[in-house]
Amino acid sequence: MRNILVGGAWPYANGSLHLGHIAGLLPGDVIARYHRAIGDKVYYVSGSDCHGTPVAIRAKNENKSPQEVSDYYHEEFRDCFERLGFSYDVYTKTSSEEHKNFVRQFHEKLYKSNYVYEKEAPQAYCDCCNNFLADRFVTGKCPKCGNDTRGDQCDFCGTVLEPEGLVDPVCAICGNRISFKNATHLYIAISKMADQLKALVNNNPNWRKNAISFTNRYINEGLKDRALTRDLDWGIDVPKEGFEDKKIYIWAEKYSGIFICQSNCGRTKW
Ligand SMILES: [Zn+2]
Ligand SMILES: [Zn+2]
Repeated sequence: MRNILVGGAWPYANGSLHLGHIAGLLPGDVIARYHRAIGDKVYYVSGSDCHGTPVAIRAKNENKSPQEVSDYYHEEFRDCFERLGFSYDVYTKTSSEEHKNFVRQFHEKLYKSNYVYEKEAPQAYCDCCNNFLADRFVTGKCPKCGNDTRGDQCDFCGTVLEPEGLVDPVCAICGNRISFKNATHLYIAISKMADQLKALVNNNPNWRKNAISFTNRYINEGLKDRALTRDLDWGIDVPKEGFEDKKIYIWAEKYSGIFICQSNCGRTKW
């Protein structure tokens, strides 16, 4: 008997599911059922992704709290999966105390490593919305290829971007021109990990070809450090003194479980 972990994708709790979502989630259920049928011990887990700016924007538009909006869709998803007969062992949500505690503990540990540092940098701010903006809520022209793009990555040429690099950056929510305000945040030194990542790619020849070439391209272009925290109201509190008014950036919340744990043991933790 083997232990099999099946991790289904976590649907975003900012709107109803449609058939396309179900088509993407169904294979996980089939795999879980197959392994149970042949006698393996299966843990099939997923949940609703409740944090992030899209939930906060929907809440603002509907005059509700982000908690209310994400709880509403979480309940709708649960009901949907139950009626469709999905066989999750656990279906939870990222606003649960278990998830928040895990992420906070993980980040506390991460901050003690040599890979996290504080830096003051310009952050995109919308005077009209009165908010700092997550990178993907800044739109403009890509400085490399000139196409319309979001502030985190250009889907046309694949360049990883920062909002301050965009040509004519505007707020994706209200369409007004944005400004930049300096703020201090925690950053993770991805640039220090090039050798480990290269070794990871080289040791996994079974990855899809495009995944290998994409990863190599990022490494060869020079890895960029990324912010772990953001000035947002909706998300998980940053477990560090002086950062009480900030939240853990959504990508760093999602990937908490798969950061390479250099501070402890050098292995990938799940
Ligand atoms: Zn581009
Ligand atoms: Zn705005």
